[in-house]
Amino acid sequence: MIVAIDQNLCTGCRECAQVCPVCAIEGEQGKPQVIQTERCVMCGQCIQKCKSYVSLLDHGNDAYDRIRKERNLPDSVQEPLFAAYSVCSLDKVRTALKDGCTFTVVQCAPAVRVAIGEEFGEELGTLTPGKLAAALRKLGFDRVYDTNFPADVTIMEEGTELIDRVNKGGVLPMFTSCCPAWVKFLENNYPELKDHLSSAKSPQQIGGAIFKTYGAELDQRKASEIYSVSVMPCTCKAYECDRPEMKDSGYRDVDAAITTRELAWLIKEAQIDWNALREEEFDQPFGMYTGAGAIFGVTGGVMEAAIRTGYELVTGESIPQVDVTSVRGTEGFRTALIEVGDLKLKVGIVTGLKHVIPVLEAVRAGTLDLHFIEVMTCPQGCVSGGGQPKLLMDTFSEEAYRARREAIFDHDRELTYRKSHENPAVKKLYEEFLEAPNSHLAHHLLHTTYCND
Ligand code: SF4
Ligand code: SF4
Repeated sequence: MIVAIDQNLCTGCRECAQVCPVCAIEGEQGKPQVIQTERCVMCGQCIQKCKSYVSLLDHGNDAYDRIRKERNLPDSVQEPLFAAYSVCSLDKVRTALKDGCTFTVVQCAPAVRVAIGEEFGEELGTLTPGKLAAALRKLGFDRVYDTNFPADVTIMEEGTELIDRVNKGGVLPMFTSCCPAWVKFLENNYPELKDHLSSAKSPQQIGGAIFKTYGAELDQRKASEIYSVSVMPCTCKAYECDRPEMKDSGYRDVDAAITTRELAWLIKEAQIDWNALREEEFDQPFGMYTGAGAIFGVTGGVMEAAIRTGYELVTGESIPQVDVTSVRGTEGFRTALIEVGDLKLKVGIVTGLKHVIPVLEAVRAGTLDLHFIEVMTCPQGCVSGGGQPKLLMDTFSEEAYRARREAIFDHDRELTYRKSHENPAVKKLYEEFLEAPNSHLAHHLLHTTYCND
């Protein structure tokens, strides 16, 4: 169980049920609600919506303390505690950080750096990669890496897989596989379409697999000494890293996934003054990333990143417009036609899992003529993930999602490299270790077969 509803706090308003994309929340109006765990995809959207709470101010120390302890939250948590919540997994991260024999490695997803500042009073959507790196180093992580790097690797692997499927008549349309809530939904409800999923792991898992193999070699460490943590905007990433198949190196790709909110609690607990932090860089080589890796945090970003690289790999020419605006937007389902040399690449983007059902029905019926479909569970992709800072009023949500989205595109525009295949550290990874995208070793470590039977 990763997401839960406190039966003592829930007032039965059923606002959470309105946003649950899979109708997993059941109960009578006015009575405590229950999550049907077999349907829940752990996206955390109910957490973002819930408004029933206990607070220090309204309910006093005793009531507040009791719930904080029940949820195993650090004393640094002072904010209201809501009926819908995610289970805190900070204990194991603290233990690893204190253990002198453990080499701790952390990675941060692209959407975290445009939201965590909100926990420290910064404007909605403030971009803070430098402070994030500095705070993680102060917490004691031995290596501070970036999920944007494995996002670039994902594009190399997934893009090559797509080109292969198109050229060799493989299963199409191919679906992205970086959103674990979406993957779980497909496994639960449309298992017969599993072969449409890209076999590439998500950036989180690809990062974890690289850190414990190539990364271990570079640091002259044994994989068994490495404890790998990821900071994600997403509650479902804790489920993904626990999946039994996610350990192809012989060791778990990722040992613990925490949310943006949890990282903020950890920073406050360590009494790190966020506002006084001086900007620092992520550690190399896995802190090197392109704009294509950065835009994974927004709906359409994976598709845009794949097109930037796919175009150049297929045609051997520079893409005329790096900004592929035809795949941007926030509509639940949108399509675009991209000319890639002689190929007319037909793509679709789904944002918000509720919008995927007609798409899947059309794929099942064989009536949807597309090559590649990106699916993200959350309303505007990971910037609006269930593990992001909670927005107390619904009116702030749209504003926050817009600001975070724009910050990601601003970041993309300011980076030296904007296409995954141009990332010098990615090139070196293939030269020194993986040989080529979809090589035997790349397949072994960075791809998977979903096996939720
Ligand atoms: S975590 Fe997501 S799927 Fe599960 S009950 Fe909450 S909104 Fe529904
Ligand atoms: S869209 Fe992003 S944040 Fe939301 S469930 Fe998927 S991976 Fe997690």
